[in-house]
Amino acid sequence: MTDVTLTDNEPVDVAPAEPARFFIDTNWYEGQGRSFRAMAQGRFCPACTAKVGSTVEDRVPVVEKKSNRVVFETRDVAYGDQPMAVIRGCCSKQRNYITPDTPLLEAVFRVFLATGNQPATIERIREQLGDWISPRDRPHNYAEELIATLLMHDRGYGLREFALVT
Ligand SMILES: [Zn+2]
Repeated sequence: MTDVTLTDNEPVDVAPAEPARFFIDTNWYEGQGRSFRAMAQGRFCPACTAKVGSTVEDRVPVVEKKSNRVVFETRDVAYGDQPMAVIRGCCSKQRNYITPDTPLLEAVFRVFLATGNQPATIERIREQLGDWISPRDRPHNYAEELIATLLMHDRGYGLREFALVT
């Protein structure tokens, strides 16, 4: 049996903080002169990649001036203009979207693309990675500390701590 010596630590008086949540800061891309859309489209599956830029019809709700009612209008849009919708609906469901060989930060980026960029805690990110990678295929078990360190040092994905502006 080991004896634990308690030291006289100063009492810490800190309100329990909410765990930090992260997201892709798409404004960061603008500041860098980079295109988030192109970055996200780079994660399309081959079938969707082939369709990028082609014109597709999209039904969009618009308010009709006269009646003040919402009606649907058909508009031509460029395929992949809303890359996260494409990824959520198709590419993230393809094999190889995220594999055990995907670099971890790239995998985290892909998780956010697939979830519509919902701000998420590290714990939640780990859970979501589990949708693609089974626990026994995790070389380093995706430790929370590892994910946190990678997120803090990200220079290429625009991953940021999500802060509510008060
Ligand atoms: Zn696809």
